[in-house]
Amino acid sequence: MSFPFALAVHGGAGTILPEQMSAQLEANIRAALAQAVNAGHKILAAGGDALDAAVAAVKVLEDSEHFNAGKGSVLTAKEMVEMDASVMHGLQMQVGAIAGVRHIKNPVELARDVMHHSAHAFLISEGAEEFAFKQGHLFTEQDYFFTDRRYDQLMVLKESGDSALSEASYPDDNKHGTVGAVALDQQGNLAAATSTGGIANKRFGRVGDSAIIGAGTLAENGNVAISSTGVGELFIRKMVASDIAARMRYLGEDVKTASETVIHGELKTLGGEGGVIAIDKQGEIHFALNCAGMYRASIDIEGKLSIKIFANE
Ligand code: ASP
Repeated sequence: MSFPFALAVHGGAGTILPEQMSAQLEANIRAALAQAVNAGHKILAAGGDALDAAVAAVKVLEDSEHFNAGKGSVLTAKEMVEMDASVMHGLQMQVGAIAGVRHIKNPVELARDVMHHSAHAFLISEGAEEFAFKQGHLFTEQDYFFTDRRYDQLMVLKESGDSALSEASYPDDNKHGTVGAVALDQQGNLAAATSTGGIANKRFGRVGDSAIIGAGTLAENGNVAISSTGVGELFIRKMVASDIAARMRYLGEDVKTASETVIHGELKTLGGEGGVIAIDKQGEIHFALNCAGMYRASIDIEGKLSIKIFANE
């Protein structure tokens, strides 16, 4: 028997306001989201695996300079890019994660390779890159990731001494964010993938939730797949993805109730601004956010495409 299939993506959440975005930028972002969700959906429609679909969708967003992942990643206090990513396949709870890589064009593919081709779950910095080059990833110069916009943003933050979500607290009408995808394939597999440049002006090898299974990424067959975006420290403390999955598993909550409860609960009270995309075992998709906007798109089990940016859409 073949199962319904569906996929959703996000491109980050935060202070995303219509008045801060030009029509052209909004159109470009919506086009990139559509391209990403279509790339993943094509794989699902052909009977492909949920994780392959999620990775293909995230790769499109990593390659777009409109989002804080891959090209267009935010800059650290040392004026370089350091990226984190993770993937999870729900069939056997397989995971792969990487953090602090500086020269890998598509970190989500490296996370997938850690899952498929290493004996480990999580590799960091130089070690992760050493593994990457053995797997055939090419050394990508920092110049490739660097954008003037990110440099200007860093200069503003350095002056104030803050670090910031790519979407927040910066007078920049070009909004960008962490990216992720969740998918249900025709075999009933659930998968999730997340990739980020982290937060601007980060120091000391800071790693956020995007690399952490159970916080930024989670997939369990028969239950749910989740990808998060937001203030990573809080998403780690509240184990956001894991908490949503646990509510569904033990309390029998549906995907909407569980996601909304966690995103608008203590997470928000503690300052955990952000959101999640989630898909359950029937292919029901839910977007939950507690801030002004989240770049998001989906193709549901009926094949209907939806692209949204602002919270009230
Ligand atoms: N969650 C990411 C991090 O803390 C940032 C984001 O989603 O924009 O690294």
